[in-house]
Amino acid sequence: MKNKNLPKIELHSHLDGSINPKTIFDLGKKLNINLPTDSFDSFVEYVRAPANCDSLKTYLERFVLPIEVMQTKENLERIAYEYILNIEESNVKYVEVRFAPIYHINNGLTIDEVILSVIKGLNNGTKKTGIKNNLIICGIRSMSVEKNIEIFKISEKYLGRGVVAVDLAGNEADFPPIIHKKAFDLAKNIGFNITVHAGETGCYSNIATSVNELHATRIGHGVSAINDANTIKLLKDKNITLEVCPTSNIQTKSFESFEKHPFKKLLDLNVNVTLNTDNMTVSNTTLNNEYNIMENTFNLSNDDFINIYKTSVNASFTDTLTKKELLKYI
Ligand SMILES: [Zn+2]
Repeated sequence: MKNKNLPKIELHSHLDGSINPKTIFDLGKKLNINLPTDSFDSFVEYVRAPANCDSLKTYLERFVLPIEVMQTKENLERIAYEYILNIEESNVKYVEVRFAPIYHINNGLTIDEVILSVIKGLNNGTKKTGIKNNLIICGIRSMSVEKNIEIFKISEKYLGRGVVAVDLAGNEADFPPIIHKKAFDLAKNIGFNITVHAGETGCYSNIATSVNELHATRIGHGVSAINDANTIKLLKDKNITLEVCPTSNIQTKSFESFEKHPFKKLLDLNVNVTLNTDNMTVSNTTLNNEYNIMENTFNLSNDDFINIYKTSVNASFTDTLTKKELLKYI
């Protein structure tokens, strides 16, 4: 079977990094936002990171305009709806999409309104396509632990009603995970599933901290585990799943080239590895594209991709019945 026909699961995808460039452009004009250019063709470069970014910081700057247009209920709902429609081309059967509600209250929306608008848009997309979805709420590393606690507390009422988990995202280099331990102790007590961005741009010790102190059962990226045998052992002993996003890792300079990316090594070490996009727009990718790149770089077989699918279903934060249904696709 060709990769594009394989059923797929997306577990690591940021809503604000995955908006149609044309939608950002059109909404920006409608909102009278000062866009860097009047021509859509040249606008695209302002929302896509260059193939070779000089740093994670440059990568993160590409989120400024998307976030500016995500400040009304209508826009949030539209963007979430279009997101689900967009992933249909990659034959995605189930998605856990994530975003940070705190970034969307600049024009007066409440956190509740923000979350409800996104859930509504995603569910409209599900009605249209049949692609099942759940939402992950991101806490932000550079915000105070109190702020993240507040967001997680508000999100509690949506647990099991669209929201399944919390995450910690943002600048990993300057804000180590331990700062936010209190917020993740609370999230665990509430009953949220937990995934944490860690070991993305270097420091593998953040992976162990995220697992042992922040109660993460999945790790966003986690690719620097390849540099430390003890971290690999921890991932295997505790049955932790990595949400790997190769194109994003190359852009943020975690690895020089796809050939040097540890995706295949991690698979061979029997670490639970899943394949994801991170940001379809900022990284100019799709899940099909990530599959094709990994297939071409490492000569992966159909069986490898079927195993990745099974790993993704097992590691997903959905209910047992949905997992059973998802397994029927292979
Ligand atoms: Zn991410």
